[in-house]
Amino acid sequence: MSDKNPRDAFPLNTFQDVVDANREFATDFQGSALTGSAAKGLAIVTCMDSRISPLAVVGMQSGDAKILRNAGARVTEDVLRTLVLATYLLGVNRILVMPHTDCRMAQSEEAEIHATIEKQYGVNTRSLEFRTVSNQHQALEIDVNRIRSYPLLRDGVSVAGAIYNVSTGTLELVDC
Ligand SMILES: [Zn+2]
Repeated sequence: MSDKNPRDAFPLNTFQDVVDANREFATDFQGSALTGSAAKGLAIVTCMDSRISPLAVVGMQSGDAKILRNAGARVTEDVLRTLVLATYLLGVNRILVMPHTDCRMAQSEEAEIHATIEKQYGVNTRSLEFRTVSNQHQALEIDVNRIRSYPLLRDGVSVAGAIYNVSTGTLELVDC
């Protein structure tokens, strides 16, 4: 038995614009022969920042690349898990780790973010590691090499790092 209020089962009043936009989207939807394999062999690991449209940044479109996103574009256990699947089963043979300028995760210390949330909401989040970054280039180098040295990753996969500039749209290529 569920004690959910059926009215809240799908909170339509909060999601109305999303649902409406999807109806519109589906009206013009062109079915395609795309599969779940990355047509351009690329995976991008990037931040959740809403200013980044990862496919557009590299001139690609639906079907071309796998996009993995989290706060700060950090290479976590779950990113590694996903990349293992993507490289063996889903056509990925190159991986770009792509953090960005003006990232919230690179502007505060871990302790500061916990304190901010606790002050504003009264919630202690310290059991979580947010993986903030104090030196973005250094963190990127660590993350790229974390993938390169991961023993379960498919042989021959190429891994690169670049920082996306949210003001200019350009990628700064980083030697990792
Ligand atoms: Zn960010």
